[in-house]
Parts: sequence; C-alpha cells; structure tokens
Amino acid sequence: MYNITSKIAEEFISDSEIRDTMLYAQENSANRALVKEILHKARECKGLSHREAAVLLECNQPDLIEEMFELAREIKHKFYGNRIVMFAPLYLSNYCINGCVYCPYHGKNKTIRRKKLSQEEIRQEVIALQDMGHKRLALEAGEHPVHNPIEYILESIKTIYSIKHKNGAIRRVNVNIAATTVENYRRLRDAGIGTYILFQETYNKTNYEVLHPTGPKSDYAYHTEAMDRAMQGGIDDVGIGVLFGLETYRYDFIGLLMHAEHLEATYGVGPHTISVPRLCMADDIDTADFKNAVPDEVFYRIVAIIRIAVPYTGMIISTRESQQSRARLLELGISQISGGSRTSVGGYVNEETPEENSAQFDVADHRTLDEIVEWLLDLNHIPSFCTACYREGRTGDRFMSLIKNGQIANCCLPNALLTLKEYLKDYASPQVREKGEAMIKRLLQSVPNEKARATADKYLNAIDDGKRDFRF
Ligand code: SAM
Repeated sequence: MYNITSKIAEEFISDSEIRDTMLYAQENSANRALVKEILHKARECKGLSHREAAVLLECNQPDLIEEMFELAREIKHKFYGNRIVMFAPLYLSNYCINGCVYCPYHGKNKTIRRKKLSQEEIRQEVIALQDMGHKRLALEAGEHPVHNPIEYILESIKTIYSIKHKNGAIRRVNVNIAATTVENYRRLRDAGIGTYILFQETYNKTNYEVLHPTGPKSDYAYHTEAMDRAMQGGIDDVGIGVLFGLETYRYDFIGLLMHAEHLEATYGVGPHTISVPRLCMADDIDTADFKNAVPDEVFYRIVAIIRIAVPYTGMIISTRESQQSRARLLELGISQISGGSRTSVGGYVNEETPEENSAQFDVADHRTLDEIVEWLLDLNHIPSFCTACYREGRTGDRFMSLIKNGQIANCCLPNALLTLKEYLKDYASPQVREKGEAMIKRLLQSVPNEKARATADKYLNAIDDGKRDFRF
C-alpha cells in the first residue's frame, strides 16, 4: 500500500502506485487540456506530483513538448541563473564484493585491474586535482568490508581536507559510497562531508534483484531506505539518482520523483541533488546487453520535466554524457557538471593504458577542465567553484529557504564570480582568463543589492592582490 511518509521501501516506493501512474499517464497522454493545466501549475514553481510529471513525460505533441523545454529553461534561470557548479570524481578503490551486472567492479570480474589508493596516493591525486583548479570532489568507491571499510573512507576524507597546495584546497567532499548504517552516516557527517550521494540504480524491486544478484547491495529494502538512515544520522544534503538504461525510463522516472516526495514529506527537505547517469560501456560490460537504453530526445525531456517537477533541486550530469548532449542539458535544468574527470583509480596522476584499465566506465567527454570552463564561458554559463552554502551551514532546509526566497542573485551570483576569479588567477590559460574577466566585469553589475555588489567588488580586488576564499 502506498504511504508517502512510511519508512518502509515498498510503501513509499509502491510498485502498484507506479504502475497505476504509468497507466494514468498513458490514458491522458493526448489530453491537451490536462497537459496545459499541469504546465500552468508548474509555472508557479511549486513543483509537480509524480502523476502530473508522468503525464508530461507521456505527452508527444511537439508544441507542448517545446513549451516544457521553454518552461524548464525559465525555471532553471529563475533559481540557478546561468551558474554551473564544477566538480570532479575521485575514485578511491575499485575493490567490490557486490555482483551488480552492469558495473565492471563486480566481484567476479577478473579482467579489471584492482586498485586501492594509499593515503599518500590520495595526496598526489588531490594535488593533481587542485592544480587543475577543482575545489569540490565526489568520492567514489566499491563496497568491500576489508579493503574499503568506513574507517578508510573517513581517513581519506581527513587527508583530502588537510591538503593545502599552493592556493589550492578541496572545500567540499561529497561522498558516493554504498548504503550503510545510521552510525556510519553520523560518522560521515562528523567528518564534514557535503552531500551523501547514492544512486538507486532502479526502483523496480524485481528487476533490482536480478541486476544485483549477490552481495550486500542485493538487499532492495536496505538500499532504498539508505537516505532515511542518512537523514537519521544527521546528513541533510542527500543526492539521489537512477542509472538510466537498466529499467524502463517510465518506471524509474516515477520512482525517482516518488523518492524525492517521500524525503520532502517525511523530513521537510527533499533531495539536495538528483543525478541522471546513463549506462555506459565499461571493462566487461556491453550496453547492448541491456534493453532499456534511453534515446537522447527522451533523455532531454526527462531532464526538463525533472527540472519542472522539483524546481529547487540541483541536477547533476557527469562525463558519461558527450559535449553535444551536455550543451543541450545545461539549458534544460542541469546545475552541476564534472570536468576533466578520470574514472580510474589513481587516474589523475597516472594516465592508464587500456591494459591497465581500472576505470568504472568509459567517459564521453574527454576535455580538460580549462577547455570546459572556456566552453561554458562561450555559451554564457558562469563556471562556479562555489562551496559557500555548506561551509556557512546552509544545508538542508536552510539551503532550500535561500533558494525559495530568491536570494540567489545577491548571494550565489557573487560567490560564483569570486570563485571563478580565483580559478582565472590561479589555473586558467591566458585566453580563458581574458574571457572570464570580461564575464565577471559584465555580471558584477547585475548583482541587485548595492551593498552586496560593493562587497563583491572589494573581494574581487583582494583576490587580485593575492587573497583567497571569500564568500557570502
Ligand atoms: N559502490 C557504491 C554503490 O554501489 O552505490 C558507489 C557507487 S559507484 C562507484 C557509482 C555509480 O556508478 C553507481 O551507483 C552506478 O549507478 C554507476 N555505474 C556503475 N556501472 C556503470 C556503467 N557501466 N555505466 C555508467 N554508470 C555506471
């Protein structure tokens, strides 16, 4: 039985509610009046229910789809402006005891090179990432009680935060590790993590059990209830996502929104971010073996409708997506992207040959961070290295109220410009520096509050004089 605030996976992600919603959406897919009504409601920026969003996704009338794209662009601009937050993944270890059939880390894979970084190797990787200009990382690891226990993850976080190299610093460490206990979530919170990220992979329990035949991850309820335990452990910024391509996109799109609704209804704060990875080729994984690949055009609609349905939630895409698809997705609601990423363990220091492969999947965007920053500037997006909210204690509902009160323009815009300025001074090529400085000059004028504008100007001059790490 569907119960949005239940703590039991099969009640807040109810299979029958998802199937009823799919049916309802199909029956109403040609109902123009209903689609118009839903779009009208969405314009108030208070979000949509999973049922309403599912109707939008089923609609195949070109003019209404164009209206959805247009609305997604407007909402993105209203809440996020044209800022794009930059991050990079850091793979700590690919030892894993799970049996996920789509992931090359699965325990039975004998062809992948297994590797776990020592604390000294982490230092070297972090220095390489700092030298690119990164300030925000997403830690990634397989699940292995002996090689990657929680103590290893905690020690690694401590190491990462302690490294100060030239003007570099990692100011926010997000963590993407397997579902764990309330006690371990508390320890992660105490270690000062930013967002705890865990992808559901699929919300379809039957299919989930086929895709995860062995290992601790095979427990659907334990995995699905992980964010509830994270919240109990005091982590109020959680990031959810599904791996598109495993299950029909219709099922997982609805499940994803139901999960977001559950967190909002139960804890008063929805997910901080939603990730939308698509399945990629990898060491012993062939995407042709999976029958639910999501075509680009459908994927763009999924992203746009998520933007409309949960206007305050950050949306992330990784280098799994190509430059071309990223350009489109940035317009439709994405607020965070990775850049210069390596998905291999130790890949920032040592470029691997194909034989040495330890990577999790093949990336589609191979550009350097500086190339991506230049590309964003050319497309009139502001590359932002901001980590201010979490460092100022604006997490969970305090972050949401900042966004809901529209203080973005006086707070997030100056923070984006200040961190871009640091990047330009310390890491950019001369040509990127020139383009970036021009953008800063232009956009400083659009900070509405006079006092905030003057303070930002003062901080920008101080960065020119060699000072760092200012924030609103
Ligand atoms: N081991 C943890 C877990 O199981 O949740 C950490 C996450 S894993 C390092 C990061 C994510 O990569 C997975 O949650 C999965 O969605 C994604 N992934 C795995 N195999 C992939 C593939 N072949 N293509 C694209 N993404 C993949």
